[in-house]
Amino acid sequence: KARYYEKIKNYSRDLKNQVKERTKEINELQETQKRMMIDVSHNLQTPLTVIKAQLTELEQQLPNNDDIFTFEKSIDRLSAFIYNLLKLSRMETGKIVAEKTFFNISNALEEMVEYYNIIVEDKKITVEHDIKKDIHINADKQKIEELISNIVSNSIKYIDKGSKIKISLSEKNEEITISIQDDGMGIHKKDLKRIFERFYRIKSKKNSQIKGSGLGLAFCKKIAELHDGSIDIKSQFGKGTEFIITLPVK
Ligand code: ADP
Repeated sequence: KARYYEKIKNYSRDLKNQVKERTKEINELQETQKRMMIDVSHNLQTPLTVIKAQLTELEQQLPNNDDIFTFEKSIDRLSAFIYNLLKLSRMETGKIVAEKTFFNISNALEEMVEYYNIIVEDKKITVEHDIKKDIHINADKQKIEELISNIVSNSIKYIDKGSKIKISLSEKNEEITISIQDDGMGIHKKDLKRIFERFYRIKSKKNSQIKGSGLGLAFCKKIAELHDGSIDIKSQFGKGTEFIITLPVK
């Protein structure tokens, strides 16, 4: 018995060391990948800025040229993608921190509802709300607004004319919950677990016609985590989607 016990103890010690080593290797690889993404984005940004400047010059010589216009739009889209990739990588490597202040999240959300109702007017979409008044949180206002904007913009992107979006806010036990619910196309169960991954986009005929990079939700998750909060999703294919963001008040 004693011999077996000794053997098992040794096995378990070896196993522990191996897991430790592999975890270290994986962490190092992830760090390298993140650093590489920052370097690649940086190196792409400079030539793009040069191309953009030369295109602007060319536009002055050849005004109203459709080809130049299309080219410029593509460059702008690529620049925006690289900018977002860089922002996400910086967040992942801890280079971006939350600049927290106490602010009225109820007012911020109400202003967003008002803004989005104007934006979606011609799509016949309505943005409803159920926002508890005068809730204050200690958070990075700009980033929280960016997080909510990303999710509401997604809802707008992925729902049809005549649909509804509802934004709710409640507070309980020093935590706030923001829910953004739509009655759009919904998401299959198999896609739900990967939805917050970088570059993950659902492959469907309808989705392929909608432009996107698959970075938006990865970014949202990082912002929530930066605030020691979380983001969750509930969805039923064909019925709609709800994003639930939980953030500590302080
Ligand atoms: P994208 O730039 O593709 O919109 P996101 O990371 O913001 O990237 O979203 C990832 C994918 O999640 C999208 O491609 C889309 O398929 C799906 N998705 C996000 N929000 C919704 C929604 N409200 N309804 C249905 N599908 C959604």
